[in-house]
Amino acid sequence: MVASPTSTNGQSPKPDAEVIIQASKINKYYGERHVLKDVDLQVRKGEVVALIGPSGSGKSTLIRCLNGLEKHSSGEIYVLGRVMHPNTSHKELSLIRRDLGMVFQSFNLFPHMTVLQNVIEAPMLVRKMPKKNAIEMAEVLLAKVGLAEKKEAYPGQLSGGQKQRVAIARALAMQPQALLFDEPTSALDPELVGEVLKVMKDLADESMTMVVVTHEMQFARDVSCRVAFLADGHIVEEGEPHQLFSNPQQPRTKMFLERVL
Ligand code: ADP
Ligand code: MG
Repeated sequence: MVASPTSTNGQSPKPDAEVIIQASKINKYYGERHVLKDVDLQVRKGEVVALIGPSGSGKSTLIRCLNGLEKHSSGEIYVLGRVMHPNTSHKELSLIRRDLGMVFQSFNLFPHMTVLQNVIEAPMLVRKMPKKNAIEMAEVLLAKVGLAEKKEAYPGQLSGGQKQRVAIARALAMQPQALLFDEPTSALDPELVGEVLKVMKDLADESMTMVVVTHEMQFARDVSCRVAFLADGHIVEEGEPHQLFSNPQQPRTKMFLERVL
């Protein structure tokens, strides 16, 4: 039997699966402050990579560099073969960004637009999708995240968990090659975390390629193919979740896990 080219839970895709993101020796300075130090990261098609680490370790900076929201200072990032270096033009960056959906801690929905409008805006504007098609697609995506009934609601009328599910539908509407999440559940009341993680797990089960910055260790352990532990701007340790959580190799990783588990 031929192995599936994409992942299921906790399984890495075949080593020859297409590389979606390749970051090599990424450094990032804010003024004098060196916040990413020679970071290497590879994400293959179908993989779910969890980025964990203490506050201030550089997780958000890294994920923002990966989709060009933040300019790295040196090193190279390839997204589907397109190189992104510190001088990449705005036009080229926007092409790269189309392929990488981003979901933020703070949802970032347009407050004056309905849920449906939030989801159809980018596909119409950026992908030039006809409105009718965009609406059809948005309805499918909203059903997928369990919010078909809310399409005419405004963000202000939704719970945090619902807002985040709209944000995921909105990111998916651009038909990205990968989704990047920066602490998608950190702003939520605890009872709303599960509904968002459930949607993310469903996406992982469908082999969506994802990079997830998270403090949800259970999610990282159960859903990711690979976990990278960041501390002080370095990837200190990277491995399969089972190995990293139950048998961390580095003292820094051990210390962190003892505190959060
Ligand atoms: P994390 O997401 O892991 O909490 P961040 O990537 O947000 O960490 O931050 C890494 C380091 O970079 C921190 O020391 C933070 O204070 C610093 N930093 C982040 N953003 C900026 C910025 N825009 N200007 C200056 N320093 C920043
Ligand atoms: Mg952060």
